[in-house]
Amino acid sequence: MSHDASDRLYRRALEAIPGGVNSPVRAFNSVGGTPRFITRGEGATLVDADGNRYVDLVNSWGPLLFGHARREVLDAASAALGRGSSFGAPTEGEIVLAEAIIDAVPSIERVRLTNSGTEAGMSAVRLARGATGRDKLLKFVGHYHGHSDALLVAAGSGVASLGIPGSPGITQGAAQDTILVPWNDEEAVRAAVATHGDDLAAILAEPVPANMNLVPPAPGFLAFLRAQADACGAVLVFDEVISGFRLARGGAQQVHGVLPDITVLGKIVGGGFPLAAFGGRADLMDHLAPVGPVYQAGTLSGNPVAVAAGIANLGLLTDDVYDCLEGATRIIAEGFTAAFEAAGVTAQVIRHGTLAGVVFADEAPTRYEDVAGADHDAYARFFHAMLDRGVYLAPSGYEVIFTSMALEQPILDQILDAAHGAAQQMAAG
Ligand SMILES: *Cc1c(COP(=O)(O)O)cnc(C)c1O
Repeated sequence: MSHDASDRLYRRALEAIPGGVNSPVRAFNSVGGTPRFITRGEGATLVDADGNRYVDLVNSWGPLLFGHARREVLDAASAALGRGSSFGAPTEGEIVLAEAIIDAVPSIERVRLTNSGTEAGMSAVRLARGATGRDKLLKFVGHYHGHSDALLVAAGSGVASLGIPGSPGITQGAAQDTILVPWNDEEAVRAAVATHGDDLAAILAEPVPANMNLVPPAPGFLAFLRAQADACGAVLVFDEVISGFRLARGGAQQVHGVLPDITVLGKIVGGGFPLAAFGGRADLMDHLAPVGPVYQAGTLSGNPVAVAAGIANLGLLTDDVYDCLEGATRIIAEGFTAAFEAAGVTAQVIRHGTLAGVVFADEAPTRYEDVAGADHDAYARFFHAMLDRGVYLAPSGYEVIFTSMALEQPILDQILDAAHGAAQQMAAG
């Protein structure tokens, strides 16, 4: 499989763009090699600049629940574009999308649209601080809530892939109000709440963490967080940018039956366009300007083209979508497990409903350190062995597998054949 064209584009990109990429997770730094430059997507397939075709198990890091170039989504966006790209004034589409989000997500009564998950997370934090009059945040090690200053502390995902602890450029002031706790550790949360409870504006979590590979909550842990937030008067924020509309139409809060005060959404909500959201109880959300004093804004927020795509994407989310998606995810997870067992490769294939992940370790991870301590060289070998066989996985062992509705049976067979070949190649050394 030649990648000369990608190599050429990469060398050119390096001159014009830092690291050749506009988001570090796209780089191949942690697995080695040249990132593939993509020219088009068709359903389950990515096509690169050399004309190679890959089954896509990243799906733009989650948004493309229905695969690439899904007709209904593109038609809606094209029709909206024909009416103009942006108005800077309210549109009916924004109400329709807001109503669809409120209808789907159990805890959301009012919602505001933003352009990225980072913006939505940052705004949720400001809202929590503004509403409580408190400064501190409790955040879990390895959870990613976008790259805003207060939240890019022990943030998993791209930061972890690059092996850097946080980031230069974040002031001590911004970082010192973020209290870090290990995931799934009730004792540590209790201790942090005992010490900082009166100053805690928010407890933030990815309810099903998927930026430190996949580390589902221990039974009862989300309900425990709800109780701890209530006990100290902190706002409970669930970052459902990945889990929202993916685990179920109502996200992890629906699956686990625990409702946060604020939910952060992104990725699927925009159907592949720059759109994200945060929403929650009406009394909380009404602290936002222009009703209340907490300021939050955006020139392109609620952009009509992105909104049209989002409405179309959410309109496709019927119950059988989740049965089908879970079926495909189960086939992949069970097939990967069988491939590793047949080859004698030690690996944990984790699955939580429609999300899955591969960690090369002796035991399933329960916290960030377990993932950090896994064999990331083995992940890099698996990644390249799969890529050579035409399957595009995330180029980092801290990321998960994002399945799509475009994965039909012949494609699933192709993925499993690739996994068997890749596992055998790994075993051969
Ligand atoms: C992707 C992601 C974000 C950030 O969203 P962007 O649109 O990339 O800014 C926030 N939280 C979680 C859980 C994410 O996976």
